[in-house]
Amino acid sequence: MKVNILGSGTSTGVPVIGCDCAVCTGYAPKNQRTRASIALEQDGDVILIDTAPEMRIQVLRAGIKKLKAVFYTHMHADHVHGFDDLRAFYFKSREPLDIYLLPEMIPELRDRFRYAFENTGYNGAIPQVRLHAISSSQFRVGNFDVETVRLPHGHVETCGFRFGNFAYATDFKTFPEQCVRSWQNKIDVMIASGIHFGHHSTHSCIPETIELFRSLGVKRGIISHLAHEVDYDRHNLLLPPGIELAFDGMTIDLKPTVS
Ligand SMILES: [Zn+2]
Ligand SMILES: [Zn+2]
Ligand SMILES: [Zn+2]
Repeated sequence: MKVNILGSGTSTGVPVIGCDCAVCTGYAPKNQRTRASIALEQDGDVILIDTAPEMRIQVLRAGIKKLKAVFYTHMHADHVHGFDDLRAFYFKSREPLDIYLLPEMIPELRDRFRYAFENTGYNGAIPQVRLHAISSSQFRVGNFDVETVRLPHGHVETCGFRFGNFAYATDFKTFPEQCVRSWQNKIDVMIASGIHFGHHSTHSCIPETIELFRSLGVKRGIISHLAHEVDYDRHNLLLPPGIELAFDGMTIDLKPTVS
């Protein structure tokens, strides 16, 4: 399986509009962060996790031409607002795209993009999708075996995904004990959100995410969803062995099983 980190930024992206800080004005390549999203490829099937506002740019950069499915972590703007650009996949395939999301997210997606699901009188092209509620914690899509966990993120829960020895979890405050138990010692590589080195009421920050990697027994932990307080070149060097910061365009090749 191949993982491509399409976007590694927090909800504002980096640089932040109007910000004069050293990270935002420094133009270091690894501090240029679009909103958080990844693509996974396994035996020719590609899935996208989330449709960030920059989804079109991310997908063009990664050379992705076809999707097996889209999975959503949750319905916050920074993870969803590229949804309209899914139209392009239908233009080529003429097949509606399969979308997987937690059941409570379906009304919210329909609300945010009402024109795509109801007759609003709009005559233009709309995203053609089939919505699938994730009703079981284990299921299969194309060549992917998926296991999910529900994670607390302020007033909502987000969906974390494990694909064999790889896991992706973004926008959570903590991992509940039963989620730690069910994923413990099963993950070689994990990408998880970390924001910055401070504190946040609804997000795990870098020190908490490092602790999480330890308690899960992750061999290689990659911290994403980063804010402008994080300077890749300065801070990546300070992280413990086996833990690193994500950057846009980072790719990871995974061996199929836990060694
Ligand atoms: Zn987010
Ligand atoms: Zn800044
Ligand atoms: Zn969020």
